[in-house]
Amino acid sequence: MTLSNFTIRQKLIGLVLILALGIVTTSCLAFYFSYQDTRSGKQEQIRSIVQSATSQIILLNQRKRSLEISAEEFDTRLHDLIYSTAYGQHGYLYLLKNETQIYLHPKRSDLEGQYIGQLDSPVDSTLMLDGLKQLKEKTDKSHSWLVYWPKPNSQVPVAKLIYAQHIPDTDFILGTGVYIDDLLPLYIKRALSYLIITLTVLLASIAVALLISRNIVRPIINLSSQMEKLSEGDTDQTVRFTNHRDEIGQMARTLERFREYLIENKRLRYAQEHVQFLENFDPVTRLYNRRAMGESLEREIIRNSETQGQIYFLFIRLDLLRNLTIELGDEQRDQILIETANRLKGILSINHRLARLSEGCFGLMLINKPEETKVDDLIETILQAIECPIKLQNLHIQIVARIGVTSYPEDGDQQFELIGRSEIAAKTARKQEQSWLYFSQIKGQQVETKMELWQDLSTAIDEDQLYLVFQPLFDLNNNAALSAETLLRWNHPDLGPISPAVFVPLAEQSGLISRLDDWVLDAVAKQCRKWLNTDLVFPKIAINLSGISFLRSNFENKLHNIFKQYNVPLQHIELELTEGVLIEDLARIQDKLHRVRETGASISIDDFGTGYSSLSRIKNLPIDHIKIDKSFIDDLDVDTQDLKIVQAIILMAQGLQLKVVAEGVETELQLSILREAKCDIVQGYLLSRPLSVSDFEALIDEDLIIEGD
Ligand code: C2E
Ligand code: CA
Ligand code: CA
Repeated sequence: MTLSNFTIRQKLIGLVLILALGIVTTSCLAFYFSYQDTRSGKQEQIRSIVQSATSQIILLNQRKRSLEISAEEFDTRLHDLIYSTAYGQHGYLYLLKNETQIYLHPKRSDLEGQYIGQLDSPVDSTLMLDGLKQLKEKTDKSHSWLVYWPKPNSQVPVAKLIYAQHIPDTDFILGTGVYIDDLLPLYIKRALSYLIITLTVLLASIAVALLISRNIVRPIINLSSQMEKLSEGDTDQTVRFTNHRDEIGQMARTLERFREYLIENKRLRYAQEHVQFLENFDPVTRLYNRRAMGESLEREIIRNSETQGQIYFLFIRLDLLRNLTIELGDEQRDQILIETANRLKGILSINHRLARLSEGCFGLMLINKPEETKVDDLIETILQAIECPIKLQNLHIQIVARIGVTSYPEDGDQQFELIGRSEIAAKTARKQEQSWLYFSQIKGQQVETKMELWQDLSTAIDEDQLYLVFQPLFDLNNNAALSAETLLRWNHPDLGPISPAVFVPLAEQSGLISRLDDWVLDAVAKQCRKWLNTDLVFPKIAINLSGISFLRSNFENKLHNIFKQYNVPLQHIELELTEGVLIEDLARIQDKLHRVRETGASISIDDFGTGYSSLSRIKNLPIDHIKIDKSFIDDLDVDTQDLKIVQAIILMAQGLQLKVVAEGVETELQLSILREAKCDIVQGYLLSRPLSVSDFEALIDEDLIIEGD
């Protein structure tokens, strides 16, 4: 049995009991010793009184013998001496003669001259004789004794402390004594004082114990039960006693920090789960999202490339949904989407995979070699199911859908080709006012227009129709420009400015992208050299790089060589890669990123949230920034779903020590929401549009700082 088997409260009670027992025992002992002391003090007192009287009587006797005084005078003086020697409250001396006769007795002069055996009161007589007998028996050993002696007015012998002495050369016995019960009031008084002291000390210790219990034991018990609750994951209760200034307070504050940490952890875990869910699912319909559909399609493509199988992909667009949403509101739109999803699910078989691809668009993959006639039948069924009116409160709403169809391998052997082309087919179906279209039916025209632009882009690179603009990124921690993103511009001689959003994808498809990226790298290096020559202190410059260029085996050498040519350290450069790059084999991409970073350039992931990457995937990659896609920022102030996603991304990125950039910030409200969500860096038209070189230089010169909050 060890002490640790008992609760702290039991220990305290044990301590108090031991203390109380100690106090009571000490008081009893003290009382006993004081009792003893009083008795021996009395004994000593009567002895000295008798002895001093004895020596006076001896002196008197000598003077009588030498005839200095007469026998009468002797008697008178003896009488005076005995009668005048009173002490204490009841103390007196008495003189016996020949051990049998009471000679002098100041308190009972009526007994003087009488023989003890013949006293008037036979009781007194026997009692005294008895007492004398006891005295005689003890006389040899000492002069003081405890005997039972008659007390005046009492019928029973009472314990009495007696001191008696034979006076030499006389036949007198001188004695005195104290009745023990005369000491009783004294003892009671003492006992009372002891009792009061004991009770006071006891009460004081109980009060101290209560104080300890209140200030130490109770808080500890409370904190320990709180700890237990926390360990079970219950973080709802706030920790008490945090305002105590002692160790309890310290413990409570530590516990409170621990609780906050747990809550943070819980939030992070929830966010993680939420983001993981969002990575693959659409939160409204709970169907797969575009990313999951893309992956699934990719897997089917690989499987069918071996078995020579066929896949169909249906892009189902709900017409006018956007207009309806503006009229009815988001909630109604969600109900329409859920209802439509349920109807589609009702039609599906094991060979179908359904996903929600975007706003009002569903994707359906048909696997295992479906026949074209069966596909047509299925499309009819789908259209009918969708067009059947949906009842929303008092309204009956009829939705019209257009479907675009692609098939593998005819229309492409990449998932994005199949999905993208089916979307084009669906859009074309709408333009041509048809319910559905196969991509093969419209392929011809598409390719032609593309070809012309490719030609033009190729000459643009050679003929200096391209230039760069710079859009600054601001650090929300100090509101200063942190870096700038270079954006490519094409001034087409006939068509005017063309957006990179149009020509970069074209360049990627046509193989021109490497030349384009090389041109940008060279232009940036050249620009940086100019700035270095003018001693302009410019922030880090971010370059958008296509995945195709980045993944080339000699890319890092090329990067190094271009910048070395202009003697510009790559520490000035950050590369923006789109998420698409990350679907590559993880080990390969990790290796590549490391090699590129060794050149000194840093890396950020662009358009985060739209594609295939996830925070769990980039967790172990050497990345500096992630840029949350503009589409999440656009609706940040109206769409709570987007806000949740952005918050979750920021939270998780913090956990991975990654800085987060929010791009496309256009309103003050978006900015303040981002500040609140602890976003690190912002970019957007609100803060600055992309600037020409001269405007950008002016901005750095001004040391521009955006307004703080
Ligand atoms: P991105 O990398 O996501 O670039 C951001 C785009 O959003 C830019 O459009 C920028 O002008 C625009 N933007 C910035 N803030 C706002 C805002 O507040 N509101 C709005 N509505 N838009 C904002 P831009 O310049 O048209 O570029 C489009 C895309 O073209 C870029 O998207 C990037 O993927 C690609 N791109 C641009 N320059 C290059 C380049 O030099 N090389 C390559 N490979 N791709 C480039
Ligand atoms: Ca970018
Ligand atoms: Ca972007």
